[in-house]
Amino acid sequence: MRKNILAANWKMNTSASEGLALFNEVKSGWNADPGGNLICIIAPPSTHLSLINADSEKGIYCAGQNCSDQDNGAYTGEISAVMLKSVGADFVIIGHSERRSIFGEKNNLLKRKVDAAIRNGLFPIYCCGEQQGEREDGNQEDVVRGQLQEGLFHLSAEDFGKVIVAYEPVWAIGTGMTATPEQAQEMHSFIRTVIEENYNKEIAMDTSVLYGGSCNPANANDLFANEDVDGGLIGGASLIAGDFLQIAKSLSSSIP
Ligand code: PEP
Repeated sequence: MRKNILAANWKMNTSASEGLALFNEVKSGWNADPGGNLICIIAPPSTHLSLINADSEKGIYCAGQNCSDQDNGAYTGEISAVMLKSVGADFVIIGHSERRSIFGEKNNLLKRKVDAAIRNGLFPIYCCGEQQGEREDGNQEDVVRGQLQEGLFHLSAEDFGKVIVAYEPVWAIGTGMTATPEQAQEMHSFIRTVIEENYNKEIAMDTSVLYGGSCNPANANDLFANEDVDGGLIGGASLIAGDFLQIAKSLSSSIP
C-alpha cells in the first residue's frame, strides 16, 4: 500500500552507543501519524539492529542496509535476510548506489537479493538512479528503466506490492547537489509509468516512490510537494536527529 515514508540510511556510521542514542532521539521526537500513512524506517549498521527497538505502534520500523542473496551457509562476512528479520528488521535497502559502484553489485545479483528479502518476509527498498554522465547524455530514463526491469519486474504483482522504490540520482548522493523538484517529479512519474507498463495502473499508483540525494531541511518541502514523491531516503541528514525530524515535518505537512 502506498505510504509516505521517511527512511534513514546511516551507512557505516555510529558506534553502538551513538547509534542507540540517535535512534532514541529520533523515536522520542517522532510524532505518530494517527492515520498510519506516514512511517519512519531506520537503517542503522546491522550490528545495531538488535540494540534498537522498532515501534510499529508509533510507525517506526527498522531496516538492513543490504542483505545476501543466500539465506545461510559458507559466505563469510555476509548477512542474510533471515538474520536481519531475526533481529527486528522489517525492511532492507537493496541496490544502493554505493553497493552498485563500490561493491560492483549488478542488477542480476540485486534481483536475487530482492527475492531473498521477500521470501524471508522483508520489504525491499529498491534503489535506482542514474550517474551524472548518464543524465548529461539524456539517458537517465533508460538507465532507471533497466534497473527496475532487471531487478524487480520478474516479481509477481503480489510480491511487487511489497516493494518500495527509491529514486536516488547518483550525482546527488552525499554531494550536496539535489535534484530539482521538477527533475524528481519527472523521474518519479516516469517510474510510475514503467510500473504501469509492467503491471497495471492500480499497482503503479499504489507503489511508494521515495527520493534520495542530499535531501535536507532546506529542500525537503519543495521535493515532497510533488505528487509522485512519497517521501525520502535520507543519508547524511539522518545522522542528525533534529534535521531528520525537521524533514519528517516537511513530509507530514505535504500530506493532503
Ligand atoms: C543515501 O545514501 O541514500 C543518500 C540519499 O545520501 P545523502 O542524503 O547523504 O545524499
